[in-house]
Amino acid sequence: MTEKEYGPISGSGILGGISGRKTIIMAANTRITTVAKGIFKAAKDTDSAVFLELARSECDLSGGYTGLTPRDFSEKMNEAAKAAQCDIWALHADHITIKTGSATEIVGTKQLIDAQITAGYTSFAIDASHLFNFEGKNLREELEKNIQATTDLALYIKNRMKGKDFGLEVEVGEIGRKDDHGLVLTRPEEAVEFIKALQGNGVYPHVLAIANGSTHGHVYDEKGNVIEQLSIDIPQTKAVAKALRENNLHVGIAQHGITGTPRDLINQHFPKGDIIKGNVGTFWQDLVFNILKVYEPALYKEIQEWTLEKYRPLNPGKKDGRIFDGNCKFAIKEFYKELYAVEETTEQAIQAMAYAESLVFFRAFSSYGSASLVRKASGKNTE
Ligand SMILES: [Zn+2]
Repeated sequence: MTEKEYGPISGSGILGGISGRKTIIMAANTRITTVAKGIFKAAKDTDSAVFLELARSECDLSGGYTGLTPRDFSEKMNEAAKAAQCDIWALHADHITIKTGSATEIVGTKQLIDAQITAGYTSFAIDASHLFNFEGKNLREELEKNIQATTDLALYIKNRMKGKDFGLEVEVGEIGRKDDHGLVLTRPEEAVEFIKALQGNGVYPHVLAIANGSTHGHVYDEKGNVIEQLSIDIPQTKAVAKALRENNLHVGIAQHGITGTPRDLINQHFPKGDIIKGNVGTFWQDLVFNILKVYEPALYKEIQEWTLEKYRPLNPGKKDGRIFDGNCKFAIKEFYKELYAVEETTEQAIQAMAYAESLVFFRAFSSYGSASLVRKASGKNTE
């Protein structure tokens, strides 16, 4: 028998392999990578395909707010996948965000993409949804800048991947954006226009992120307490998916901002198969901090004090709990050394908890067995 490979496979292979199934593939943002071993082990044990990802803000050439460069992230994910013997996973660049579309920004973005490709990424999410033109006279004009920037970067990736398959996610409608009436949701015709225009430019995304009511991170009540809820607009999400299907566009929906949505509600109400990729980010960071509270109270206290000292002045009138909650992610880089040098028992607890929580996500997403579907579709050797 030849030695089995545990490197990442193409995101397109995974999303294509589950095509037509009522399955959501979990995409985990492992800001503190210790959780990855648990996630991979659960994926292996439940035969679930999985994406591991970090956004540009979390991981870039200077380390983002996690302290990880694309190369560091790739090394850690490959190591964890190998340790768990997990073979059906993609290494994904979440939110390659374009904010202005300026020439300098595009150049910097291409440098980041180069580094991600060199590091072995197999999937990419271009997010130029900020470039919405409010002065546009019609849908096409409103979306034009997004279409141009997304096309430019997608073709750049294609060129740099030199014929290798890769996953492509694009974004229309900025997630979490609000106007006077509340959250702005993506309309079906907007999604269709966007994907049609991209395809006209030779760009064929596998998955589309839309604004459908979710926000990144936590949702709070008036008292500042974290609330758990089903925040996405299910009928709107289904309508977008239906419109994409009816136009034969072969693109599923990526659900961002799942942290805080109870898993029983996901299991019962999420339109699985319309939504094909589910991003879970903040959840994994919370998991680590909750373990640290018990296992490494001194370190946790240090992290808490650093965060509050730095961010209290920037958030007048806000309660400490809320300030810590919203800004503790910035402590990850500051405490990088300490976070990766915790006691073995701490690491064990983090990984066991990540394992158990992943099981529940995979179950709620109905992704058990998805890895075999992907193997079968790709002709990859089954055991
Ligand atoms: Zn997101």
